[in-house]
Amino acid sequence: MIDILICDAHLYLDQDWEIPGGWIAIEKNRIHSVGGPQQSPPQAGRVINAGGRLVTPGLVNAHHHMYQNLTRSYAPATRLRLFAWLQALYPLWAGLDADSVYVSTYIAMIELLLGGCTTSMDHMYIHPRPRLIDEQFRAARDIGMRFYATRGSMTRAQADGGLPPSDLVQDEDTILSDCERLVSAFHDPAPGAMGRVALGPVSMFSASERIMRESLTMAERLDLRLHTHLGEDMEEDDFCLSMYNCTPTEQFERMGWASPRTWVAHYIYPSPSEVTRMAKAGISVVQCPSSNMMIGGGSADALDMRERGIKVGLGCNGSATTDHASMWMETRNAMLLGRVSHGPAAMGAREALDMATRGGAACLGWDDEIGHLRPGACADLVIWHANEVALAGAITDPVEAWLRCGPAVAGTSIVNGRVLVENCQPTMTALKDMLREHAQQARRIQKIA
Ligand SMILES: [Zn+2]
Repeated sequence: MIDILICDAHLYLDQDWEIPGGWIAIEKNRIHSVGGPQQSPPQAGRVINAGGRLVTPGLVNAHHHMYQNLTRSYAPATRLRLFAWLQALYPLWAGLDADSVYVSTYIAMIELLLGGCTTSMDHMYIHPRPRLIDEQFRAARDIGMRFYATRGSMTRAQADGGLPPSDLVQDEDTILSDCERLVSAFHDPAPGAMGRVALGPVSMFSASERIMRESLTMAERLDLRLHTHLGEDMEEDDFCLSMYNCTPTEQFERMGWASPRTWVAHYIYPSPSEVTRMAKAGISVVQCPSSNMMIGGGSADALDMRERGIKVGLGCNGSATTDHASMWMETRNAMLLGRVSHGPAAMGAREALDMATRGGAACLGWDDEIGHLRPGACADLVIWHANEVALAGAITDPVEAWLRCGPAVAGTSIVNGRVLVENCQPTMTALKDMLREHAQQARRIQKIA
């Protein structure tokens, strides 16, 4: 028996596969079948008439820092460059605890769902108290979101030439044993998993060579994915030159990180020959368009990387740099950036949507099951709300209209076969209480009485 049938939809199922006026059937937590107007759909327990609206795979957020919800739009830091911005916020983030991480993850996931995201990673690299990622998994379970945690780490304090204060770094042995604990508690490599764990020393300038190398060794031993920030700021080039006498990419290669197991955030400043080498090595890259523009540090040339064979996904990045978490917005900004750099013929809504779905799924090593809606895929999809005013007059191409005429929000979001957003509202009943708790925690973290 089919559980949910969505009919009369413009289906964007995958790159190069769309069905106008189509239907899509969900059985349990998988896509069962799809069809066009000439094919009869199966009987279903629940039928949702999409009324001609666009249905896409759920968008995949391949880089985020959800705890930063607690310091969004923090006034003293809004005009700072990356390193100064981090140093202004580290003392506040030192106040993170179990309750604040739970509630900030909860609110971040609701916001992501409303923006059409059904799978998100999170790169949690601040660990002033133990077992904070456990709280993120608790929030993901309570909501029902597909979640890829990345156990981030910082080892190099200011006194050792790094950026963070000493109370935010950990020693390598503590980090490695916590990574191992998290993997055994939460990493599910099985098909259809709702939770996985990757290893993610934060960046070359705040993580030691030892933790980079030992994370790689552990990832190979336990078959895990690796993640870090790379080429995010020109200051990283200066740092690597003085610390390692080479560029960030060269150090990355020396440590053995250039492999298909790795996806990196940003990668704005490689040379053309470095991009060619990384493509050959098989790494994936996450472009974070809004965050990059907000902090004024340039942006990865995603189109060029895709042409060279690198799989490129999209990410919201930290809630305190982007100050919002809408994957629809990131998709639109990725399209705009591509057109600014390469002209209007080079990039349209479909290329951007491919990055936000297949591209993000490839970053997570998960594009066999998510990021598309082929039969057998995970039942993660979005029926996009059609704003009649915004879409008035847009009648020739529903995918282009979706990305050009927004802002667009999810009308219905389904994750693992469960409806988590309906009529543009989350189905969880705890949201009001969570927002109240989030407001209290934000005041505490920002030291506002
Ligand atoms: Zn980041």
